[in-house]
Amino acid sequence: MKQELFSNHFAVGNNGCLVFDGLDLVQAAKTFKTPAYFISEAVVRENCRAYMRAMRQQFGERFKVAYASKALCSSFIYPILQSEGLNADVVSGGELYTALHAGFPAQKLHFHGNNKTDDELLQAVQCGIGSVVIDCLDEIERLDAVCRHLEKKIPVLLRVKPGVDAHTHEFISTGHNDCKFGFGIEDGQVFEAAEMLSRCKFLDFCGLHCHIGSQVFLKEPFGIAAGVMVALFARLNKEYGFSLRELILGGGFGVRYMPEDTPVPIPEMVSYLGQCLRESCSQHGIDVPEIVIEPGRSIICTAGVILYTVGSVKKIPHARTYVSVDGGMPDNPRYALYQAQYDACIADRAAQEKSEIVTIAGKCCESGDLISRDIPLQPARRGDTLCVFSTGAYTYSMASNYNRLPRPPVVVIQNGCGRVVVRRETYEDLVRNDVI
Ligand SMILES: *Cc1c(COP(=O)(O)O)cnc(C)c1O
Repeated sequence: MKQELFSNHFAVGNNGCLVFDGLDLVQAAKTFKTPAYFISEAVVRENCRAYMRAMRQQFGERFKVAYASKALCSSFIYPILQSEGLNADVVSGGELYTALHAGFPAQKLHFHGNNKTDDELLQAVQCGIGSVVIDCLDEIERLDAVCRHLEKKIPVLLRVKPGVDAHTHEFISTGHNDCKFGFGIEDGQVFEAAEMLSRCKFLDFCGLHCHIGSQVFLKEPFGIAAGVMVALFARLNKEYGFSLRELILGGGFGVRYMPEDTPVPIPEMVSYLGQCLRESCSQHGIDVPEIVIEPGRSIICTAGVILYTVGSVKKIPHARTYVSVDGGMPDNPRYALYQAQYDACIADRAAQEKSEIVTIAGKCCESGDLISRDIPLQPARRGDTLCVFSTGAYTYSMASNYNRLPRPPVVVIQNGCGRVVVRRETYEDLVRNDVI
């Protein structure tokens, strides 16, 4: 029986091996060793283009698509984003440094985060960042002081909690009231912040920002949030006399991890957003402002796979079968963090039926060090190459050296060939900062 492949970017070669975007993955595992991250540049570009095209259709030229750097932040991604016309966001000095290091224009970046340090604010203003999304009251004074010191005026937005339940995992849901991010509307905090901004000569209050959560499969929460934000936007301009011009609606658009997942296609999501925004703007008698979205996962996730080599295969009677691999939570902590599930395949025998139900385990000293639990897989043998799908987002960017495992390399696939863009860490790298 022929297995259904994860997406049309995958194929089975004549030798029975899994091919991703023209690259034979069993061969790639030999060439680049495992574990290793692989990112298809073509899929990243395809996703960027889908967003750019859909946004242009809805909003003409008054829009931005800002890639959420935290999904995968490394120098190689920024030239790709730039050539596709995207902006990007950063949430730390380290992400900002990486984007600038890669030659990304500071003007096309915006900075958010609930606890930016003074150093980070200085770094952002100094480099000429596009805008800063303010998250708490004292950040207003601190940022104003930095700008006054450098004699630079910068555009700022306020991060707002629209009070929307995104129906996703609690830890990746960020739009409700009891949440560490942003200002509430009902409790009046956003108006207090706006008033403070009106007294700051060096801060150009240009808009509002929200982000309701991540891996959201429904359209409606985005529509509701957009409506709340438009109402607030109109109120601040009409009643309070501000001249806001930009509305950032965040990211969080769901992607397919498991065969049964049914995310909203990008064009449909964006056209729904466009419709909601036009409706609420006309209701409040305002023009549609410049609309910015911040997709991270939905740009990079399905562009990536991780390859591992199968080690021990343990069949525990009356329990489950554990297939252990040469990586785990250090390269992909998402099961440990959220009990996230992944689809996988034995790349050596990709066309063979997935006749077993197995749990894929890492090699760390934690029972929670799993990659995926009770999923169908071809019978696995020591030495097989295991491909885990949809692992482009929040894997490398969340990687650690737990149990002193060196971080795997990132290999970009271009025209069917792999190119290392982040080299594998060595044992020397592990002790580099140790002081004896
Ligand atoms: C995480 C985050 C995003 C991106 O979320 P995805 O689920 O990766 O699309 C966008 N904006 C903000 C403020 C975020 O924190």
